Amino acid sequence: MAAAGAPIARPLDVRWIHGSPSAKHNTDPDIQVHEYDEHTVILRQNKAINYEAPFLFLLFGAERAVLIDTGATTEAEYFPLRATVDELVAKWLAHNPRDDYPLLVLHTHPHRDHIAGDGQFADRPLTTLIGADLPTAWAYFGFDRDAEATARVDLGGGRVLECLATPGHHEAAVTYYDPWTGFLLTGDTVYPGRLYINDWPTFGRTVERLIEFTENHPVTHVLGCHIEMTRDPGVDYPIRATYQPDEPPLQLTPAHLHRIRAAVAQLGDRPRLYPLDDLILWPNE
Ligand SMILES: [Zn+2]
Repeated sequence: MAAAGAPIARPLDVRWIHGSPSAKHNTDPDIQVHEYDEHTVILRQNKAINYEAPFLFLLFGAERAVLIDTGATTEAEYFPLRATVDELVAKWLAHNPRDDYPLLVLHTHPHRDHIAGDGQFADRPLTTLIGADLPTAWAYFGFDRDAEATARVDLGGGRVLECLATPGHHEAAVTYYDPWTGFLLTGDTVYPGRLYINDWPTFGRTVERLIEFTENHPVTHVLGCHIEMTRDPGVDYPIRATYQPDEPPLQLTPAHLHRIRAAVAQLGDRPRLYPLDDLILWPNE
């Protein structure tokens, strides 16, 4: 594989698992596996296991794979993330044989619903897990020396992720750009749901930086880690909902970043709850 030229925007017309009227009688898989392409997998946790139902990303490079986030549930018994990843890696290696193939585990931010499965990887061979907490993650990416820098994570074969510190929702939030797919993985900073903003001015600066980044890199899909909206403009599902039959797609676009920037500018230094069609700005004060 080589990431020469601009990535092609493949459609993401997957029907995600979205819970059921009775969690007890849910028959969906614990983890939905969507193979976007042969080197790129998007995972979603079942809402019956944890209502957060986060999305996770597994990206394969020529020299190693990276898993971004480990879900909302610790126990492999309920949330078999390690087994799912092992199966996907084995499948990939069957088509792309090599002797040693390490796995790197990174995170979008250290909130519980993105790191709970970390322990499942503790004893995995050839695996490096970088803690999501600020001191650990910032030292790894070099953001402790320069928070405005773009860090690079090389997966081999030309797939080099670009990583940005994007605080606002969480002080240790990281956004990943994948040149192979053109995905911008924004964690809980930007997604079709309630954007809980803990630091309003910092969030505004992050949105500016993301817009600047998208102006210099071809972005196909902006992908966060949750869906909380309905298909009615500006209307979200109740918090802790375990059944979302009318979900919009996960993917957003760079245009959404511009809409967020305009809303942030309009609110100025008086942040308040502010619904846009496809997401809701939700400042914590
Ligand atoms: Zn989250």
